[in-house]
Amino acid sequence: MGDPIRNPEVKYTQIFINNEWHNSISGKTFSTINPCTGEVICQVQEADKADVDNAVKAARAAFHRTAPWRTMDASQRGQLLLKFADLVERDIIYLSSLETLDNGKTFLDSKADIEQSISVLRYYGGWCDKITGKTIPVDGNYFTMTRHEPIGVCGQIIPWNYPMGMLSWKLGPALACGNTIVLKPAEMTPLTALACAALLKEAGFPPGVVNVVPGYGPTAGAAISEHMDVDKVAFTGSTAVGHTIMQAAGKSNLKRVSLELGGKSPLIIFADADLEEAAAVAHLAIMNNHGQNCCAGSRTYVEESVYDKFVALAKDRAEKRVVGDPYDPKTEQGAQINETQFKKILGYCESGKAEGAVLQAGGERKGDKGYFIKPTVFSDVTDDMKIAREEIFGPVQCILKFKDISEVIDRANLTTYGLAAGVITKDIDKAMTIAQSVEAGTVWINCFDMVTSQTPFGGFKQSGQGRELGEDALKEYTEIKTITMRLINKCS
Ligand code: NAP
Ligand code: MG
Repeated sequence: MGDPIRNPEVKYTQIFINNEWHNSISGKTFSTINPCTGEVICQVQEADKADVDNAVKAARAAFHRTAPWRTMDASQRGQLLLKFADLVERDIIYLSSLETLDNGKTFLDSKADIEQSISVLRYYGGWCDKITGKTIPVDGNYFTMTRHEPIGVCGQIIPWNYPMGMLSWKLGPALACGNTIVLKPAEMTPLTALACAALLKEAGFPPGVVNVVPGYGPTAGAAISEHMDVDKVAFTGSTAVGHTIMQAAGKSNLKRVSLELGGKSPLIIFADADLEEAAAVAHLAIMNNHGQNCCAGSRTYVEESVYDKFVALAKDRAEKRVVGDPYDPKTEQGAQINETQFKKILGYCESGKAEGAVLQAGGERKGDKGYFIKPTVFSDVTDDMKIAREEIFGPVQCILKFKDISEVIDRANLTTYGLAAGVITKDIDKAMTIAQSVEAGTVWINCFDMVTSQTPFGGFKQSGQGRELGEDALKEYTEIKTITMRLINKCS
């Protein structure tokens, strides 16, 4: 299994273009912080527009029809992805330790994230030589077929909550389809993406196929989304920035856009459920990854007759959750990502109290150093409260009361988001009625957060555009070409 490395060496801090390491053209660097202490880990080269231009040039050259990446057999692309997955697995202890240093999440959470990333890379490694078109029986004496071709240079902008997960969700399908990439990791967590760049080179990916540009959203990120020579942009992050990305695509070259944005996902618990089990599922649905999870079950709806009992169970679980040293295997929750998010979450706790929700647990910082927050539970939450409407992105459980199924469906859908939903019940009819009626890209029945390599994931409404993971993600990284040939001899 391997013990965590408490002070992992930071080996890569530069911009990765054409399989080479570069300092920023501007000479600027930025600090990345350890959220458990608030201290600077190291300086990272800060990419902005000029560096993004160079990365796009490298990705464009690597996409040329005569370049090694384009002339390579599809199965060979698969071998490269599998090799990359093997190298990530070889270095999993180091990468997990580095992630924990940079992100503040527990070592075990980092490791679970990386294990899922390996699975995603292997899943897409298997797809490379199975991306096929159709033959279509058109009218007239023609032979028609379709080809699914790579789009071209893909910009990929990822967040800090699952740095390795989001990297694999983006690289896997894009590379399987034969695209080239300019990836911008979040400024708060650039270190594992840079370590992966070195592994991509070691795996044998040709120069320019993947380029990594650490930097800030409004500069490096905007340079990608506004670029005239980027064919597609894939983004995960806030809905606000999602709007900006789409506008940038519209104002520039109409690049293809896929977005995975926020959520305010309902988890509906009926009175017939095993309440202990329901409380355990609901606890993890929101507390997992410190609540920094786009599909967090952040609105817990509980049927009236078991409401008080459920609140007591939720409070008990929150109070017992172990918060602290992220390298200790007993710890369940480390630090929030940074001071801004930390203050934002505590601000939501104040707003919950001010609007009349009842604070059952937490609601304040833990310790006097770093960005630790006590697992928080609010009961008596109503739909109009800010904590019930906005994405908190922290360990704050909001418990609401409902009377009947029709009412709870309408209330669950009372949001501009639509990423995920859950239901806990022994009644199959209730489960399937909820599953069909909630407006969400994923519905979990008697479980939560079951995100797998094979299943499409994405949002209804303002939770996003397009799907990641599974076969459906391949559609986001291919153009369909129709080829029609006139035949001289009539045949059937
Ligand atoms: P964010 O600003 O949306 O950041 C996500 C990514 O987008 C980062 O790489 C960021 O760069 C980049 N970015 C920011 N502004 C950009 C722009 N104008 N053009 C192109 N790229 C840009 O999210 P955040 O500020 O880190 O977090 C704020 C809130 O977003 C959270 O509280 C949470 O509600 C939500 N969020 C959702 C997810 C999710 O999984 N859906 C993930 C993270 C955050 P830099 O940060 O490096 O500057
Ligand atoms: Mg950091």
